[in-house]
Amino acid sequence: MIDFHCHLDLMDNPTTVVKELEEACAYVLSVTTIPKAFPKTSRLAAKGGRIRTALGYHPQLVGERPNELSIFEKLLPETRYVGEVGLDGGKDFANSKEGQVKVFKTILKLCASNGSKIISIHSRHAASAVLDMINQYPKCGVPVLHWFTGTQDELNRAIQMGCWFSIGAPMLRSKKGKEALSLIPKDRILTETDAPFASTNIQTSLVTATKGLAKIWNLDQAEVDSQLKTNLAVLVA
Ligand code: MN
Repeated sequence: MIDFHCHLDLMDNPTTVVKELEEACAYVLSVTTIPKAFPKTSRLAAKGGRIRTALGYHPQLVGERPNELSIFEKLLPETRYVGEVGLDGGKDFANSKEGQVKVFKTILKLCASNGSKIISIHSRHAASAVLDMINQYPKCGVPVLHWFTGTQDELNRAIQMGCWFSIGAPMLRSKKGKEALSLIPKDRILTETDAPFASTNIQTSLVTATKGLAKIWNLDQAEVDSQLKTNLAVLVA
């Protein structure tokens, strides 16, 4: 199983969760929400194992923590994975709009000059703005849009731009999410949980997600697992 976007450091009992995921041979992208959290979070998992840690700077936290770009820049050479980063266009975060743009822009620029990264991106209520910014930095690496909720036009644009998508159980519950999933090429999709926010049990949530994909793709569970595993191998190759 694959969880390409979860917050292991924010789980109630990170050490236990990591142990269970390692025993289940799960492939995990453990994202962080502030640059400062990266060193400790990356130490949760064994080096070179199936759990990789991404360096993040969550757009919802930029307002209260505007000055961590220098830490981000310092840590970036330590990992190939970046996230959670992006923009949040929600009303609650309107005050930090300028700061969010500045931070995300700088991050994309740094990714481009650091040899390109795999980037887990938040784009809630800001899909077009996020795509515009990715467009400005074509060498930033591979954008993986996490829990994408943009319009169909925005989705088509993202697909054309070569973006990947990490999708979870909540997306498979909504009609809009299911429609979106039927439009995304099978070879650009990975599963995610966004735990502990969207779910508290990672493994159960991943089973729900792959079951939902099996229905949409008209494949059996094993075929879905194999498709997802191939996708991950292609992405990180
Ligand atoms: Mn998240």
